[in-house]
Amino acid sequence: MSTELVIKDLRISVGEKPIIKGLNLTVKQGEIHALMGPNGSGKSTLANALMGHPFYSVDSGEVTFGGVDVLELEPNERARLGLFLAFQYPTAIPGVSMANFLRMAVSAVRTENSNGSETTELIPMRAFRRELREKMKQLGVDESFARRYLNEGFSGGEKKRAEVLQLAMLEPKIAILDETDSGLDIDAVRIVGESLNQLIGPDLGVLIITHYPRLLTYIRPQFVHILLDGRIVESGGWELAELLEKKGYDPIREKYGISPEVLADDDVEDPLSALRR
Ligand code: ADP
Ligand code: MG
Repeated sequence: MSTELVIKDLRISVGEKPIIKGLNLTVKQGEIHALMGPNGSGKSTLANALMGHPFYSVDSGEVTFGGVDVLELEPNERARLGLFLAFQYPTAIPGVSMANFLRMAVSAVRTENSNGSETTELIPMRAFRRELREKMKQLGVDESFARRYLNEGFSGGEKKRAEVLQLAMLEPKIAILDETDSGLDIDAVRIVGESLNQLIGPDLGVLIITHYPRLLTYIRPQFVHILLDGRIVESGGWELAELLEKKGYDPIREKYGISPEVLADDDVEDPLSALRR
């Protein structure tokens, strides 16, 4: 049976500021949804909160995954259920190789009774290596990737490919991809798009978050939703993405009487990184 992620009347705030203001969305395994919206519309807020990021507070509403109340669960428990988030701003972890990180993550998700801590029983090295090599080959990722420290000194494109490799290894049921195309040049978007395409199938549901339609030309979503001021204001098919490509967000803003906020280019730095320092 296909598993569903069901979001009902969700409200999320950052500090005192309401960002998501009553959002409804259902994503099923095997479906591809695109969530599009201008900078600052709350796309990352939604993605991070769905995965359980403590910085974002869920004020009300419901999120269930296969009937389980997700909002009660820790991020690692959400991952074990089959939820995955590819970060808009992947963090570098010097000293932790990609291979070690992936082996730990895969073990934590697959091992019975794992609590996600360092006591998690690791899956056998040989089998893991074989699987990693296969997936890297499938995605056209260079083998040297496995030995490099996680995201340390990675180019924008490499960071996003590392996220796609994690997706391939963790084999989630529903993947949320937060601007997996942001900051990439046209060639890098194509590579990421083609890699994602290889992973898409009946067992994987995808929520692709983006504000450019380009990535979507590789991964034709069946459903396109437009997020504006914390709500999905329109849902439709491919024609919505085409409309945005042609006219931008202004006609939709006008239609719903929402004035554009002037925001800095969010592709440059993670707003949360200031907090981590
Ligand atoms: P998007 O991903 O659609 O560009 P975000 O979800 O990142 O939008 O941001 C939505 C709103 O929430 C913005 O107005 C932003 O200022 C605010 N916000 C998000 N994260 C933070 C943060 N860490 N600190 C302060 N404000 C934040
Ligand atoms: Mg964002």
